[in-house]
Formats: sequence, C-alpha cells, structure tokens
Amino acid sequence: MSEPMTISGNRALLIEEKLIFELDNPGSVAIDLPEPAPFDLERLGDAPRRGRVALPDLSEPQVVRHYTRLSQKNYGIDSGFYPLGSCTMKHNPRLSEKVARLPGLADLHPLQPQKTVQGALEVIDSLAHWLKELTGMPAVAMSPAAGAHGEWCGLMAIRSAHEDKGESHRRRVLVPESAHGTNPASAAMCGYSVDPIPALENGRVDVAALKAKLGPDVAALMLTNPNTCGLFETEIIEIAAAVHGAGAYFYCDGANFNAIVGRVKIADLGIDTMHINLHKTFATPHGGGGPGAGPTVLSAALAPYAPVPYVVHGAGGLEMVEGKRAGAKPFGRVKGFHGQFGVFIRALAYIMSMGSDGLRQASSDAVLNANYLLASLKDDLSASFDGPCMHEALFDDRFLKDTGVTTLDFAKAMIDEGYHPMTMYFPLVVHGALLMEPTETESKDTLDQFIAVVRGLAAKAKAGAAEDFKAAPRLTPRRRLDETLAARSPVLRWKPAAE
Ligand SMILES: *Cc1c(COP(=O)(O)O)cnc(C)c1O
Repeated sequence: MSEPMTISGNRALLIEEKLIFELDNPGSVAIDLPEPAPFDLERLGDAPRRGRVALPDLSEPQVVRHYTRLSQKNYGIDSGFYPLGSCTMKHNPRLSEKVARLPGLADLHPLQPQKTVQGALEVIDSLAHWLKELTGMPAVAMSPAAGAHGEWCGLMAIRSAHEDKGESHRRRVLVPESAHGTNPASAAMCGYSVDPIPALENGRVDVAALKAKLGPDVAALMLTNPNTCGLFETEIIEIAAAVHGAGAYFYCDGANFNAIVGRVKIADLGIDTMHINLHKTFATPHGGGGPGAGPTVLSAALAPYAPVPYVVHGAGGLEMVEGKRAGAKPFGRVKGFHGQFGVFIRALAYIMSMGSDGLRQASSDAVLNANYLLASLKDDLSASFDGPCMHEALFDDRFLKDTGVTTLDFAKAMIDEGYHPMTMYFPLVVHGALLMEPTETESKDTLDQFIAVVRGLAAKAKAGAAEDFKAAPRLTPRRRLDETLAARSPVLRWKPAAE
C-alpha cells in the first residue's frame, strides 16, 4: 500500500499546518487601530533596534484557524481510549471542571490578603484533610507540582531528618530496578547515590537482596506499591521493618494509589512518606491537558520538616504559614505561591462527589478492568507474570519472537487502528514491555473493541506480516520519526529562511 498523495499535502480534512511564523503575511492585521503618529523606530529604550520585531502578521480568521487546528492535533483522554500504563489516563469528570471554573475560585490572585480568600484556604485544608484520611498519615505537604516533585520533597524531608539527628553520612538510596525513572533522578537531585535492587522472578522486589544492601550509610528506600509491573509488593511490612531497623526511612512512590485508594491505609504499611499524583488518582487533567500536583504525605517523624507554605487553623480563621513556627523546621519552599490550586479544586470535587464508597468502587473497578485485559490477552500476547494484577497488565515481547516485529512496530500499528499505544519498554525488568492501564472509567465495550484489535494485530504479526508492521503508521500525518535525532538535536527555534 503506498501513501495516498494529495495536491495540497493535506490528508482529507486533516490540514497540513505550518508554523505560525511561516503563515506570516506582512501587513495583515487582526484588529484595526488608527495609524499611529510617526515615531522613532531606531531604538527601544537604550537598545538599538536591529530589525523588524519577529512576530507574524495574521488576520483574525487565520489566527483562529491556526489554533483550532493545532488543538485538534492533540490526542487526549477526551478523544479516545488511552491505555498508557503507569499514567492513569482516566476520564476527568466535567463536574470537577465546572467547580474549578466558578468565578469565586477561578478569579483569585495568589497575593490577595488571606482574609479575602478564606474559602480558597478551606479548599486546600479540606483536600489536605482527605489526603491524610485516605492514607492514615498525620501530615501532608501540598505544594509539590507533580509526582517527581513530590518524590524530591519527600526525600528532602528525609535528608533534613537525618541531618537533624547528626546522620548526614547517610548518602545512599535504594531503588528497585523496576522503579519509574523519576525515582533515581529525584534521589540524585537530593545529592544521594542510587543503589539498584533486583526484582524476583515473580516481579516483586528481592527482599533478601534488599536486606543485604541495608547499612549505616543508607538514607532511604524508594519503593513503588503497587509496583510498576502492576503487582502488589506483598512483603511490604517486612520491608518497612528492615528499613527502619537500619535507621533509614521508607519512601513510597504513590503514583499507583488509584489501585488501592479507599482499601489500604498506607500508614499501616510502615511508610514514612509518599507522594500522591492528584492528576492520576483523583482524575485531574494531565499530559497535554494541564499541570499536575503531587502532595506528599509525611509521618510524624518527618512532619516537622514539611516545606512552607501550609494552612493552619488560627484564632482569626485559616492562615497560610509562609515562615517559621514553633516546633517546625521546614526544609524550605518547593513552589511559587501555594501549589497547583486549580488541580486542588478538581481533586477535592472528585473526592467529595465520589464519597468513600465511590473511591473504593473506583479502585476495585480499575483492578477489575486491568485483570479483564490481562485475562483476555494473555493467550495472544505473553503475560510477564503469573496470576492476577492490580491496576495495570504487563506483557512482554516473547509473543513476537521470530516474527520480525518489535514492541515498537506493534505500537505503531496500533496508531493506524485508532488507538493510543500502551506504555512501551517500561518497566525495564521485562524484555520489550507492553504495559496497559485501562483505568476504571472505560466500559466493557471499549475494552472488548480494544482486545479485538490487539488480538487481530498479534495474529497478523504471527502470520508473518512484518513488512506491514515495519511500514506503520501509514495513516498518520507523519510516518515514523527519527526519535533519536529528535531527542539528541531538537530544533526548538524557528529561523527565517535566509534572504
Ligand atoms: C507518573 C509516575 C511518576 C511521576 O509522576 P509525575 O507527576 O509525572 O511527575 C512517578 N512514579 C510512577 C510509578 C509514575 O507512574
């Protein structure tokens, strides 16, 4: 099949969109203003002007069409199924969006006097209350702006606690091999060295290897639970005891909290600190759709080191503490102003509208949906581990052995079929990983359609259609990209064609 050619370069109503600078049509204007009085264009303040300001001239309809078309190129959870493992791409309820747009919340300024924003402080305080309730932890730092930022925040609290005890010689952080890449990166950002722990055949952390690595120089263990293989770390109580026995702290990566929310109080597991990705578990838009937030819960031992600001109940109402208070030793500030307020509103609206029964139902359904995918596809793909999974189903590329098709080819073929691919080549503990996370918000119909397509593709690969797979995607505006070149030498600036 050859690529369909068009005279225009457009593909049906998918318009080949140029950069806005390339659309420049000198003299076009989107608004009519009276001709300004002549003025000296040679200087701008003290700086001599070297040429025309490099902004494009466009008419209003050109601007509207440009941005409308760009918005249509964005694939998101509102466009279709998005089984991107580890990312929890679930529906963002419109109720939460509506609440976040209420003028009394949307039109605030972060520097308003505190007495004029008591309702906003109450939003932050109520959300903090529910996050503590859901985890059983006594404190939460609200301001980290994402999961990775929360990891860093939790590790900074751990570092401060060790320093306070005169144990700043603890410089090593243990991180399982299956961890998300942000874990070792956050540890390194805190000045720690990273020591990997191998996984067992069953996809869980090797507890014996972990214990062997504990020592007086270990600051913390960072463990994800449920882990990135979609499996619950069943030895977690024993792991926590061993970590504490060695004088270290236990960081839990809580990105997969969606699988256990309403069912497990993480305080019961011996965890000292954990971030919660509000944009995953509590359904606020993320990816191309908006910013995230990574509030980080803290045990009593770490709570004094929580960064500012935080909300307290004062004599005259709620107060945002920005400086030092008696008993508190904040390690600093991690974010301008008060964190991602718009995300807080959505997450609180989600929690309140779901209720405790709804949250439990959501985590159960997330696990049920993932197991439905696993059970339906395990004979066509190769499931990496025996037994049921939690919120995501992990496959590897053994089913593609000798077909000439790779995980990447398989993913590209899924795009032609109208599916955003699953997560590929992560976690690293299995070969050619395909990690699928359906989330609870997808219907059985959606999953059945997806399963039929994936089965069809697997059968096609095994039937010797490698050529077809290598040529995919065929139907997208762009075919295969040189991703290595794009990552190594990204072209980030448009330059006018030389005259
Ligand atoms: C998403 C994720 C993170 C990072 O969260 P961000 O909000 O993207 O920074 C960390 N660990 C795991 C397991 C994740 O899935």
